[in-house]
Amino acid sequence: VDPIVQEDMDKFQDTFKGIKERFRLINRIGEGTFSTVYKAEDLLYDVYVNDWDLEEKENGTPFRSPPVKRRSAVDERGMIKRRPKYVAIKKIYVTSSPMRILNELELLHDLERCDSVCPLITAFRHTDQVVAVLPYFRHTDFRDYFREMRMGEIQTYFRSLFTALAAVHEKGILHRDIKPTNFLYDTDKQRGVLVDFGLAEREGTDSKPCLCQESESTRRRRITNSVTAALGPSSGYPKNDSRPSRRANRAGTRGFRAPEVLFKCTEQTTKIDIWSAGVILLTILSRRFPFFNSADDVEAMIEIATIYGNKRMRNCAQLHGAVLETTIPTIGSGGFTMEKIILWSTCRNSDGNEELPLNEGEKLAVKFLECCLELNPNKRISAAEALQHDFLRVEDA
Ligand code: ADP
Ligand code: MG
Repeated sequence: VDPIVQEDMDKFQDTFKGIKERFRLINRIGEGTFSTVYKAEDLLYDVYVNDWDLEEKENGTPFRSPPVKRRSAVDERGMIKRRPKYVAIKKIYVTSSPMRILNELELLHDLERCDSVCPLITAFRHTDQVVAVLPYFRHTDFRDYFREMRMGEIQTYFRSLFTALAAVHEKGILHRDIKPTNFLYDTDKQRGVLVDFGLAEREGTDSKPCLCQESESTRRRRITNSVTAALGPSSGYPKNDSRPSRRANRAGTRGFRAPEVLFKCTEQTTKIDIWSAGVILLTILSRRFPFFNSADDVEAMIEIATIYGNKRMRNCAQLHGAVLETTIPTIGSGGFTMEKIILWSTCRNSDGNEELPLNEGEKLAVKFLECCLELNPNKRISAAEALQHDFLRVEDA
């Protein structure tokens, strides 16, 4: 272990009362914007294996009364869940708001029966420090395998990801931060679990009506009446803009944000996770990571507009009551097809040369990709529908 990491772990063990008696920290495995994650051995593993009840009675340490209720120790088949020997301890930064921490723990608790979501074993607090304990999930670093994935492996990966998304969305929960580091995938077991519900929220909790929800006819009428009128003969940026500024949840990660998040749609749905999953697929098919590399929301819009073209992007803006004007020369009016983008990124149609076409598998993948990266969230495929798509459906033998 790196001496600096060791020092950090020692400090954590010394300041968090009681942790040494229960866990042996092994290494630091993650350091994000909101937390540090350690791999640790649960020292009570051998003593109390298969017996959660006993632990509750005898445990006089600060680790009493875990939020995981007794019934959850037994799964649907009546099997006792074994307490894992290795755990991931997520030390949530003390600068996170208590509401936010509570939100993450509550949502994880709600999702405890979803196989494809890394379950919460328990959580502890010592003064202002909160830690969440999750089973350690062995996984492969995305950067180590995404370039070499064969089509069958890509399908298996996305079947696993969309199974997880379907389960989360079914509960009316948006993850909001779907990206490779939050989907821990084991390439040997061909199984993945979702982690990091730090930005997740219940659908509808943050919403005021957005224009994208109104009917087509109302929309047409409103646009002819207001947008054209408001634009008027004068051009440029209004100096004294009296319009209320737009506010909407923009949480997420650069490059994975859906267009409706960028346009500050006030009624964001689970479809934002589908867009992010689509960006992962685009990354794999194009063999480029990160695929989008913007520094801010405006740059992100430019990147998306470069692919989709001015016309479609303007329609997308209008859908959320925004107006998009641009004179950037690289944004054409018609944009490019996903097929073209993938051929380019994999260097299969360099200037003048004959194109190597996509193979049948890639064509199907691109069809699916287009369903995920549909600009209009209302038309974008849902996780449940995705599992029925030819690209993901498991053929009955
Ligand atoms: P953050 O909010 O800081 O991004 P995450 O929950 O995403 O925190 O965890 C950060 C990283 O820690 C993950 O990307 C992953 O590498 C590692 N990690 C988190 N949970 C687990 C787990 N249960 N098993 C193994 N590694 C994990
Ligand atoms: Mg994360």
